[in-house]
Amino acid sequence: MTDYFISDLHLEASRAPVAEAFFRFVEQTVIPEAPSNKLYILGDFFDAWIGDDDDNPLALNVQQKLLSYTQAGLSLYFQHGNRDFLVGAQFAQATGAQLLPEEHVIQLADRSALLMHGDSLCIDDEAYMQFRAQVRNPAWQQQILQLPLEQRRLMAQQLRAQSQSMNAMKAEDIMDVNAEEVTAALLRHDVITLIHGHTHRPAVHDIDVNGNKAQRLVLGDWGENAWFIKADSEGLTLHHFAI
Ligand code: MN
Repeated sequence: MTDYFISDLHLEASRAPVAEAFFRFVEQTVIPEAPSNKLYILGDFFDAWIGDDDDNPLALNVQQKLLSYTQAGLSLYFQHGNRDFLVGAQFAQATGAQLLPEEHVIQLADRSALLMHGDSLCIDDEAYMQFRAQVRNPAWQQQILQLPLEQRRLMAQQLRAQSQSMNAMKAEDIMDVNAEEVTAALLRHDVITLIHGHTHRPAVHDIDVNGNKAQRLVLGDWGENAWFIKADSEGLTLHHFAI
């Protein structure tokens, strides 16, 4: 049995090749190998998600595909990112996916690993952390979900434009993870392996946590390339292929 990890596909209507690459990846690699494999989506699967009641063709098409995968036997797990934090119970029901909390530990063959989207580790970006506290607040989310779809669609567009212009002005290192925050997360869960996405800086980092060797594996975003991490008898490995 193999566990696969992906994140930051940023699926949206204008990025059809990415969705196609994802479908091929699952249908030609993940499922044929063994239908009972596990696929962990670690956030920002969608570039925006305005609620499970969204009826746009991409959202419906992707949910239908995911359902066919879980019906074929695939175990599918979904963690929220900073773009698709409104994915909810109805999505889980429609796809057969299991929603994971923002920090989740899994047991692999040779070790435990902590899974996170990664945005909560970027604490040097204070403006973003304030924004995050707002949009992750369940009361705020309930309020937003009451709004008509059209209004939510407009809000999502504005948020995206705002985040792009803000990020353009930020120093590179502010948008990366904070090393102490990584250490704190590993210690909090008593593990030495962290898998996350969000930063779009795919790499395997060997790090030191209070004198112990630890690893931080970072997924890449999907665009020119598709990135995934594989956990099998060979351990944890980072892979990519051209889209
Ligand atoms: Mn993200």
